[in-house]
Amino acid sequence: MSKQEDFVATVSHELRTPLTSIRGFAQTMLASWDKLSEDDKKKFIKIIEEQSNRLIGLVENILSVSSGASNKLVLKKVNLKQAIEPVIKIISQKYPDYSISFSINPKLPEGMLDNERFQQIVMNLLENACKYSPKASQVFVSCDFADNEGFFSLKIKDEGVGISPENKDKIFQKFSRVDNPLTRSVQGNGLGLYITKKLVESMKGRIDFKNNNDKGTTFEVKLPLYNPEEQVCSVVY
Ligand code: ADP
Repeated sequence: MSKQEDFVATVSHELRTPLTSIRGFAQTMLASWDKLSEDDKKKFIKIIEEQSNRLIGLVENILSVSSGASNKLVLKKVNLKQAIEPVIKIISQKYPDYSISFSINPKLPEGMLDNERFQQIVMNLLENACKYSPKASQVFVSCDFADNEGFFSLKIKDEGVGISPENKDKIFQKFSRVDNPLTRSVQGNGLGLYITKKLVESMKGRIDFKNNNDKGTTFEVKLPLYNPEEQVCSVVY
């Protein structure tokens, strides 16, 4: 398949699945309103809400990567602990079956980041760590000085399915998903790591991963520590 056909196939599938389910549950509720219990009604509305959120996320991602527009980022002093903790809270609520731990070197100064985009990076990596790990797994988030001066390192370690070395470059490409025992059962559109890498690099950082010796993967992001001049840069998808 050409890249264009690939894109159309992925997007059609990604749009059709939630739309079909929204229509199906709405039709069932309209046709059988009087016969449904209060619990069923709540359950169906919850599914409609989840599927609508999935659609909104997809449309936002597609628009940001296909507009070609350059989005301005403002790099400022960011307290890393204060930026990372709320993201961990959101993901812990979304994935209650996983246990997420967080450690940070207290001597670490602030980062030089666009706060919202940095949180988007952490959110994407943390969500993947849960998505591609079996239930009840542990995820470890840690933040420390990087080995290169002027940078900090954020590591997200999971106990999941791992990534085979031949897929190393593929996972960062647009709309590219890698087949693994969990890809079929979890939602995704193959844009998360593409967007994450673009954001990291536009903030002058680097992203990489390695498979752990026992199981799972560790993603590492290195980003600059605070530098007194406020800077503006942009990301082009
Ligand atoms: P999506 O999750 O929507 O498929 P991503 O761009 O976030 O898209 O990830 C691309 C692919 O990389 C995924 O389909 C998955 O196969 C693989 N992947 C990403 N993160 C992990 C992880 N922590 N462990 C194992 N595989 C992963």
